Amino acid sequence: MHTCSTIKPGQTCIFMKKSGCAYNGGECHPVVESCQECGNIEDFPGGNFCRVFADPAQKWNPGPCNMSTNGNGKEEKKDSTKKLNPLKASKRAQGRA
Ligand code: SF4
Repeated sequence: MHTCSTIKPGQTCIFMKKSGCAYNGGECHPVVESCQECGNIEDFPGGNFCRVFADPAQKWNPGPCNMSTNGNGKEEKKDSTKKLNPLKASKRAQGRA
């Protein structure tokens, strides 16, 4: 691993090669709107970038990002867990009979 010389200077990175950054486009991609308020956003000289992922847009497509700390995109998940488990529902019905 080599030290980044583009977006995150001083950080070691698996994409950094002797010949330069081997990531798609030759550098990390900035955070996207869905990343807002995430604790993994870091302010680098070139703007706001993710500490964990080189391309945040990819992590939200399809979303939500599995490392986000902001809870964005989690609403739909909460709703689905509220649905009644069919197995439990049938057991409950049997108990009543
Ligand atoms: S961890 Fe996910 S949500 Fe947070 S900044 Fe990185 S890509 Fe965005």
